[in-house]
Amino acid sequence: MLIRTKSVHTGVNIDTTFNSVITPIYSTSTFFFDAIGKHKGYDYTRSGNPTRAALEANIAALEGGVNCSATATGMAAITAVLFFLKPGDHIITGDDIYGGTYRLFNAVLKPMGFDFSFVNMRDLKKVKDSVTSKTKMIWIETPSNPLLNIVDIEAVVAIARKKKILTVADNTFLSPYFQKPLDLGVDMVVHSTTKYLNGHSDVVGGAVVYANNDLKERGRYLVNALGVSQSPYDAWLVLRGIKTLGPRMEAHQNNAMAVARFLEGHKNVRKVYYPGLKSHPQPDLVRKQMTGFGGMLAFELDTGKVLLNTFFKKLKYFALAESLGGVESLIETPWYMSHASMGPTALKASGITRETVRVSLGIEGAEDLIADLDQALKG
Ligand SMILES: *Cc1c(COP(=O)(O)O)cnc(C)c1O
Repeated sequence: MLIRTKSVHTGVNIDTTFNSVITPIYSTSTFFFDAIGKHKGYDYTRSGNPTRAALEANIAALEGGVNCSATATGMAAITAVLFFLKPGDHIITGDDIYGGTYRLFNAVLKPMGFDFSFVNMRDLKKVKDSVTSKTKMIWIETPSNPLLNIVDIEAVVAIARKKKILTVADNTFLSPYFQKPLDLGVDMVVHSTTKYLNGHSDVVGGAVVYANNDLKERGRYLVNALGVSQSPYDAWLVLRGIKTLGPRMEAHQNNAMAVARFLEGHKNVRKVYYPGLKSHPQPDLVRKQMTGFGGMLAFELDTGKVLLNTFFKKLKYFALAESLGGVESLIETPWYMSHASMGPTALKASGITRETVRVSLGIEGAEDLIADLDQALKG
């Protein structure tokens, strides 16, 4: 079944009471038992809920996993996955991962005794050399945020497999429409469904998708024990958003490509980062593991010619906002906004500058977006 078909149909037709075409919101905290030990599959909404289960079946099908846990936020999903480990364990991850993930790892889990190596994961030798007898997880985020660097998923999995190290991929940036990490051997996929999967900037949510039943058992246990599962209302919204994932991803990508080409030719732009451009340094890897380039790009503004704030203020269609993956275009500065919690040293090490601008292309008309950027880039 094609992903467009799965996103519309999987997990959806579960109501046989009135045959509603759309999954109902089961707004209940608890479910009554017919007798001791006898119920219809659900007893308490933190542990399980039919609306959330529909979403979980849907996301699992899109990613090709055995099951999924829908969580309150993307960070809730990431937190649950880190609870597969314990203090003393070592985790290898990128030096340019999502700012909130970096904060959880570096400022919350590290003081608790978890050990992290933040390395340039494009350099496979660095990944290999970072492995110790205590390494229990390799955390992959590709393309990276905000510079769209690509990590070779299969190569990292090969390093991890030999040592029985868990691999996890944050697939938020491309969504399963453009990248399927489980097919490349990864053990778990996490999502901030806040972004492309929901796609309408009206809910926060997350997901963990499991490659096998052992991971599913442990993961579902943890999500319930930690209490990080998603509310039925929010799950319903995400399920609604996912129905249009395919057409939206195509539209995001078309806009990103058109805008990337425009920016690359502009005299007040020093550099553009987009996997669909010929100038992207990893074309073979892009072709090998991605079926599309996505809707995110970044660029270096020549702030000697256009001041950042002047540029942002002049824009009509690009809201100055964090987040990404919604139908409306958003723009922001990772240095001062989304990635500020990394601090100047880590920011510099990952290649982010004060002039780096990150753009999430919405699904508006490309000509309008380009005209808007063009007038704002005049300074
Ligand atoms: C937004 C984001 C997260 C965190 O998700 P929330 O829903 O904001 O908690 C994690 N990873 C990536 C790549 C993200 O963009």
